[in-house]
Amino acid sequence: MKVPMVDMLAGYPPIKDEIETAVKNVFNKANFILGEEVSKFEKEFAAHNGTKYAVGVANGTDALRLSILAIGIKPGDEIITSPFTFIATSETISQCGAVPVFADIDPASYNLDPRSVEKKITKKTKAILPVHLYGMPCDMDAFTTLAKKHNLKIIEDTAQAFTGKYKLGGTEWKYLGAIGDCGTYSFFPAKNLGAFGDGGAVTTNDEKIYEELKALRNHGSKVRYMHDMEGFNSRLDTVQAAVLSVRLKHVEKWTEMRNAVAAKYAAALKDVCVTPVVPANARHSFNYYTIRFDSKAKRDNAQKHLTEQQIANQIYYPIALHLQKAYAHLGGKKGDLPVCEQVQDTVFSLPMYPELTDGQIKIVTDAVKKAV
Ligand SMILES: *Cc1c(COP(=O)(O)O)cnc(C)c1O
Repeated sequence: MKVPMVDMLAGYPPIKDEIETAVKNVFNKANFILGEEVSKFEKEFAAHNGTKYAVGVANGTDALRLSILAIGIKPGDEIITSPFTFIATSETISQCGAVPVFADIDPASYNLDPRSVEKKITKKTKAILPVHLYGMPCDMDAFTTLAKKHNLKIIEDTAQAFTGKYKLGGTEWKYLGAIGDCGTYSFFPAKNLGAFGDGGAVTTNDEKIYEELKALRNHGSKVRYMHDMEGFNSRLDTVQAAVLSVRLKHVEKWTEMRNAVAAKYAAALKDVCVTPVVPANARHSFNYYTIRFDSKAKRDNAQKHLTEQQIANQIYYPIALHLQKAYAHLGGKKGDLPVCEQVQDTVFSLPMYPELTDGQIKIVTDAVKKAV
């Protein structure tokens, strides 16, 4: 039986009226550009994350781009990041004139490995850009220590990890994105908090970075038609902000539901493949549920079996960034980042969304078991 990767409409009926009222309000006021719904959502989003500020932007890619500029990255600077992520993470580094430097990942979390990062630090390194991949928190204790030691900034790519948490220093629970200098978020529909189109945000506790972000998203202008610098047109749409304010009230419950689905997947699959292990100091947001096999042949076979039965599945990400044609000029080659290269060949992700039923979970896990 067909099981989709995500079902965007499954959670819609209970909030349909509230969302349609919110959207109609915007239509009736016609305050489409930076309307009050945007600043209202920004306040709610910052409050949710426990940060001083949030700035709504056009998408998660721009959230990265504007953060990179706002923390003061200059052409020629190096930013160390993961090779195992969506290209938005690294293309925004290059597009700001800086150089993405790829370090290897940890085989258990699939996130940037702090030991590999430390080896890549040079005089030109200005920042670390960890990605909480699939929603799994990075080792933020290690990154904050590294950043202090080498005087580096941290931007957390939280596109897949909104509502994930990390117990900083083993004592203080923090939302992902609220630990570094900036946290960047995407409201692409399939993310944990999805808009009805594109959207993004940046959070920070630094007033100077906040002011810079607000100017950058609106043509470098703080006062209308006064430009101390050039910026971008990268505002969060007012209609999307109205939708996001409604959905934000439900997102914690949805993450709990995702965690419940993940627990059922793990119970059924832990003896047939590697399932995500969430450390005691972390809360996973389970934007994706990713399993790993001990060989590429086994992975490919399981994937083929699921596809034949119309069970959606996807490899995030089949070719690590240091091996992509777009980065040939950086001179990366096979063997450079062995953990990442092994992981890209042995993982794939299963259907994952809050409303996935026990029946659907059984169909998926039975199919994986049968393939193995
Ligand atoms: C989705 C995503 C982005 C980009 O977000 P958009 O809103 O699609 O621009 C950046 N980084 C990661 C890890 C993502 O998954």
